[in-house]
Amino acid sequence: MLYELGRAGFQAYLVGGGVRDLLAGLQPKDFDVATDAEPEQVAEVFRRCRLIGRRFRLAHVRMGPEIIEVATFRAQPRASDEDPEHEDDDDPLHLTDDGGRILRDNVYGSLEDDAFRRDFTINALYYRVTDFSVVDYVGGMDDMRAKRLRLIGDPDTRYREDPVRMLRAVRIANKLGFAIDDSAAAPIADMAGLLAEVPAARLFDEVLKLFLSADAEQNYADLTKHGLFAAMFPMTANALAEHPATEAVIRGALAGTALRVREDRPVTPAFLYAALLWPVVYQAITPRLAGGESVAQALTATGGDIVSEQVDLVAIPRRFSTPMREIWQLQPRFERRRGKRPMRLLEHPRFRAAYDFLLLRVAAGDAEQELADWWTEFQEANPVERKVAADNAPAGREGRRRRRGRRGGGRRSDKQR
Ligand code: ATP
Ligand code: MG
Repeated sequence: MLYELGRAGFQAYLVGGGVRDLLAGLQPKDFDVATDAEPEQVAEVFRRCRLIGRRFRLAHVRMGPEIIEVATFRAQPRASDEDPEHEDDDDPLHLTDDGGRILRDNVYGSLEDDAFRRDFTINALYYRVTDFSVVDYVGGMDDMRAKRLRLIGDPDTRYREDPVRMLRAVRIANKLGFAIDDSAAAPIADMAGLLAEVPAARLFDEVLKLFLSADAEQNYADLTKHGLFAAMFPMTANALAEHPATEAVIRGALAGTALRVREDRPVTPAFLYAALLWPVVYQAITPRLAGGESVAQALTATGGDIVSEQVDLVAIPRRFSTPMREIWQLQPRFERRRGKRPMRLLEHPRFRAAYDFLLLRVAAGDAEQELADWWTEFQEANPVERKVAADNAPAGREGRRRRRGRRGGGRRSDKQR
């Protein structure tokens, strides 16, 4: 397809993550094409082409089963970055809130302009298939050899323009096993708070890329180290400070996710978010349980508020938040093992996820190993064995855990958030 653009008299290069991954010896996920042809001109060259995006116009060209993104060279939003007159350069809204950025994004430019608007030097390498050469305006090949992630331009400015670049730094560095250059790492601690200005839906996408990944555990460790995790999940960070043991649930979920990704097994945002918010849930329900509420009651009373506060920062679409809450709600039902209840729970569509979550709670010391073992066996048992197990199960403890005084006491927690 690069040849076709070439034959039509245009420049065309592979660029971005595909070239970067290829040069780093990884299997590229996809390829992006950069060209001096404008989207309409791309459409004239390819029959199977669709123009998308209003703000950032792109051509999607279909090549067999794949869709290749073809973007016209663009210039960097330069004017406001280096304007010394701008006194509120500290204001994170300034560059993004005035609508100016939207316009500037669609300013076409030269190949060189296009290189300088990209985030990291290793993401700005242009590969020309006609002669196998790499065009490098920003020292990306040096950084590639040094296994170093370096921002193009002034780091403060580049993070302010788009705070998501801080998350991309962590993710791309871990994907490649590169180090984030000091110049790009140092400002993050002070600038992490800018993530609060990023649209929640965009952060949702980035969070999935970070955590539904083979590098999930390292990404979590680095996000925490740089203060980026607390910027996106402040409630979780606070709850972890109060109940550090609950971190085992998050760590366990990320380890499991990473393993599943490596084995090409499916992973779900609902389970991930159930774990990421569990410390908050635990913190919120603990005083209520002490006040005599059942786990189910306490979850019902607190779950909604926790979700609605979190989605202001990082979106969680309903199709994930609903099953996420179900995973929480099913937890107390594991305690009730007598009679027909365990069979009914086993048949619940969310049983498997809830059981996996129970195992994480055991690792966190928040549920008994004996309980998990019982359910492990129950799943593997035949119908007769199941009946025997249910007949001989200990009485459920749900609702009677750590009950002190029947009323009052727990009320305080109503105002917790
Ligand atoms: P991957 O696809 O592996 O997640 P990627 O680097 O390809 O990583 P994309 O989001 O596909 O990420 O972006 C493609 C290219 O667009 C990047 O390599 C980079 O050159 C540029 N780019 C992406 N996001 C930004 C950004 N926030 N700021 C500047 N340039 C960006
Ligand atoms: Mg990409």
